[in-house]
Formats: sequence, C-alpha cells, structure tokens
Amino acid sequence: MSQAKTMHRLFFYMKRQRLLYAGLTFTMLLGVALDLWVAWFLSTVTNAASEGEMQRWPFFIMLAAIVLLLIGLNTYLDHYWRTKVSVNIRKDMRNDTMEQLLKVSVPYRDDNHSGELLSRITTDNQAVGNGCGDTLMSLIKNPILIIASFVYLILIHWQLALICLAIGPLTVLIGGVFGKLMRSNTGKLQETLGRMSAFLQDVLGGTSVVKTFGLERKLLSRFSRQNATLVHLETSGGKIEGAANSVSGVFGNLTFLIAILVAAFWVAKGSLEVGAMLAFIQLMNYLVGPFMQLPGQWASFQGSLGSADRIFSLMDAPTEVETLPEERHANNTFNSLTMSDVTFQYSSSGQLVLDSVSFHATGGEIVAVVGASGGGKSTLFKLLLGFYPITNGKISIDGNNIADMSLHELRGYFAYVPQENHLFTGTIRDNIADGKVDASEDEIISAAQSANAYNFIMEMEEGLDTEIGERGTRLSGGQRQRISIARAILRNAPVLLLDEATAALDNESERLVQDALLKLMAGRTTLVIAHRLSTITHADRILVMENGQIVENGNHTELMRQGERYYQLYTAQLQKEISHDEVR
Ligand code: ADP
Repeated sequence: MSQAKTMHRLFFYMKRQRLLYAGLTFTMLLGVALDLWVAWFLSTVTNAASEGEMQRWPFFIMLAAIVLLLIGLNTYLDHYWRTKVSVNIRKDMRNDTMEQLLKVSVPYRDDNHSGELLSRITTDNQAVGNGCGDTLMSLIKNPILIIASFVYLILIHWQLALICLAIGPLTVLIGGVFGKLMRSNTGKLQETLGRMSAFLQDVLGGTSVVKTFGLERKLLSRFSRQNATLVHLETSGGKIEGAANSVSGVFGNLTFLIAILVAAFWVAKGSLEVGAMLAFIQLMNYLVGPFMQLPGQWASFQGSLGSADRIFSLMDAPTEVETLPEERHANNTFNSLTMSDVTFQYSSSGQLVLDSVSFHATGGEIVAVVGASGGGKSTLFKLLLGFYPITNGKISIDGNNIADMSLHELRGYFAYVPQENHLFTGTIRDNIADGKVDASEDEIISAAQSANAYNFIMEMEEGLDTEIGERGTRLSGGQRQRISIARAILRNAPVLLLDEATAALDNESERLVQDALLKLMAGRTTLVIAHRLSTITHADRILVMENGQIVENGNHTELMRQGERYYQLYTAQLQKEISHDEVR
C-alpha cells in the first residue's frame, strides 16, 4: 500500500480524535512559546544583572514562578492528551480489527494462521497507536520549535542565525534515507513477531503432544532461530536509529560549536551582548536538539506506518458478510434439503473434493454419511453451512437456493455438534447459554438435563458457575461433549449437523453421550457423519462417500443386502470390535 494511502486511511481514525488533537495543538504552541520565553528570560536577566539593575528582581522571580507553574501544567496536559489520543485510536482500531476477524471468510482463515492474525491486534496495534500519539506530535512540534527559534535567532543576530541554517537540508536528507530503511526493517520485524505468535500458539495449544513426544528441545531450537531473527532485526533497527542519530548528532553539534565560537568572537569584539549570547545558546539548543531527533522520529513514524499497512491489509481481506448479523433465534420451520449435482474444489488444490453429489433429506429424517477419511464428508457439512461457495450444482432448503439466502438465515437452520468440541473459556453456564439468545436459567438447566450433563455439573462445587479452563481443559472429553450437546439442544434449530467424535469414550460416558444425542435428534432432521457404524443402523438413509462421490445410498438393511461398500465397511468394523472384545 502506498504511503499516502496508508496515511489517508489512518487519518480516518485520527479525525475522530480531533478535539484531543486541538488540545495538543494548544499545548504544543504554548510549549514552544514557553521555551522561547526561557531564552528571553535568560537574556533579560543577564543583561539586567550586568547593568547592576536589581529593582526588577521581585518581578523576575514572580514571573518565573508563574511560568514554571504553566510549564508544569502544560507538560502534564501534553503528556496526558498524547497518551489519550494513542489509547483512543488503538481502541477504535482494535474494535475494527476484531470485527473484521469475525467477518473474514473461511478460505481466508484457512490461509492465515490465527497467531499471525492475532499479532495485528496486539503488536501492530501498539505500534500504530504510538505513531499517532507521541511520535506524530513530536514530529509536528519539533519543526515549529525549530522555525520559531530560528526567527528569534534572526532577531538577535541574523548573521549567526544563517550559520544554523546549514543543518536543515542535511537533516531532511538523513531523515529520508534512514526513514525508508526503518520502514522496511519494522515491516520485517512485525512479520517475524507475527510468525512467532503463530508458533507460540501452536506450541501452547499442543502441550500434551509436546510433552508426550518429547518435542521440548526441538521446539526450543526452532524458537531460538526465530528469536535470533528477531534479535537481528531489532538490532538492525537500533543500528539504523543509532546511525541516524549519530550522523545528525555530529553535524548538529558541529553547527552548534561553530555558532558558539563565532558568537564568542562577536562578544569579544563588543558587537553582541552577553545576555544575547546566552539567549542564543539556549535557542541553538531548541534548534539543534529537535533537529537531531527528527530523523529518528521520522524513522519510527515510518515503522508505525508499516504496522498500519499490515492492519489495513487484514481489513481488506475478503469477508463473508458486510456487517455482523444481529443475534437471533434459530429458524423454526424446515421441510426439506436437497443437494443436486454439487461439485466443489478448494481454491488451494486443483482436485475435485465433491463430484456431482446429490441427495435429498426431508423433515425428521436421520441421514448418515459414512466412508473412509478424506472422502469429503466434512466438506459436505462446510458447504451446507455456507463456509465456501460451491463450484457447480445447487443446494436448496425448502426449495430456496442457499446461494440466494443470507448466511445468517442459512445458518439459522442448523445446530452443529463438531467432532472437536469447541468450548470457550468461561463458566459452564456461559457455554451452554451460547446456544440461545437470552436463555433463561430454567432453559439452561433443562438443556443440561437433556444432555445428561446436569448430574455431573451439580456434583461440582460451583455447579453451573464452574470455570472450565481454556477450551474446557478442566472437563473430561465426555463432559465436554455433553456441554456441547446441551448448547445444541438450547439452540433448538430444525436441522442437526453432527460430526461424531472418533475418540472412543469409556462405556458409561459413551452411553450417556449416545443417550443425550438421541434426545437431541428427536424431532429434528439430522445429518450425521458417523465413524462407528453401529451407531447409525437405525438411520433412515446412509450415504457412503468415496473420493467425493456418493457411491451408495440406502438404509442399513438395504445396503447390507446389497453386499458392497457399506457391507464391507460394516463387517470389517464389526470384526475389529469383536477382536477388541476378545483381547479385553
Ligand atoms: P472427510 O471428512 O471425509 O475425512 P474432508 O471433507 O475433510 O474428508 O476432506 C476431503 C478432501 O478435501 C481431503 O482430500 C482434504 O485433504 C481436502 N481438504 C479438506 N479441507 C481442506 C481445506 N480447507 N483446504 C484444502 N483442502 C482441504
């Protein structure tokens, strides 16, 4: 993104803080005036003293006291408002980034690691906030202080002032060169931080695998490599800023020394008062100091623009909805679902994942989808939920093409129990209540009871208020599943999409989960991806999927009689179970 475009988009956020920026303009101008006043004071007091004029002393002291008070107040307000601007802009951008993260399409999420996306809302957000607050205000204040001091210098001694001019073009040059270097360096730095955040998320999410497979050293050495890259980039950043400061420092101080020597020469010759020389030195400080800081500040601002680029590129990512939908209750009518000749391939692979898939399900039916892994069963669900647009064919619900429905309306038909139960950090109550807007206590309890979860919840000291830990780690697998089922029961949607867990539970847990599922399925149309075929013998229809095609379609008895794919899968699984039982 071009720098102008990035600035333009940042301006949108800055505009909202115009009152604070107005306040900051005031403190900035007052700050410059107070600085100049100090120079004036130095010269006036020194001249008065050298002329032995003591009667104005009480006035000087009173004036100094007032100005000191003003300086104190101004410094406080300036600092507070700079922080406030930065905090407010960060808050607005964070909210917008979060909203965008919730809106981005599933294919975009497939291609971008969550840890990396996370860093846009953390480290990049921080960098942009600093850029729009402290750095930007210094970048504006310093040139004003420089110009004001220069004008004052001209009034004192224009020949001396001209010497100071030499520093100007040099600083602009240094700022330009180093600013560019810094922007590129910061861009790489933030990318590395993003990758590191992604890596950390993987590692922390996989604690048990890391520990059981003894991956600690391997992961630490991978982390060390990333850390080394980070150190390299951070050091380079330090070098660039250091070089910018050093070059401008050397030339700034050189200008300063030359000007002082010349001033001293004029004082010796009697053409400059001592007071004026003191004022001159003070003004030179205001001029040279900010000049020396400018390249570094410019470089740092460029770095913030790099971070803004990364945030805006996320903001430009494809989204599945324009605006976040309102929370609403699930649809309550459903008659039929039809897939006709649906073809689909993921954009990342050229291969057809679904090839002319057709089936029909009517209200209240149980349709099981079975077959070897990789056959396209989960993809079928993802298409029904509108995660990806289909390549060819048509999916309709109650005769309406789902492509013409809003995603919100479409998803209102479904309750979903995924294979990997995703629960959110919080209490059991919060997690069940996610199933329905404004769920009442009675509804939550009744859902927990139907899901065979109420007893174990009540055995816990805190009951429904028990904190379940990150993704429910403080619960057992079977307990997590039953909470997930309770959430789906509360949702009360007409169609249930059930991705049966592959992990076998102990017998008692399994019985409770199966019983809860039966209650959930009652009165609903259910599409179930089944891994254990013994659980779906009662299904109205069984679809056998292989390589993206439905190769068999019928009920258990029919397909067993047919004696082909389903028969083979079923008998193979039965034999496995028998031999397992024998081993036990
Ligand atoms: P099943 O649920 O039957 O095991 P899936 O629907 O998960 O099968 O996968 C079908 C095929 O699609 C597999 O070859 C898999 O590699 C591929 N696939 C699944 N998800 C994605 C994705 N997000 N991007 C690209 N390919 C995918």
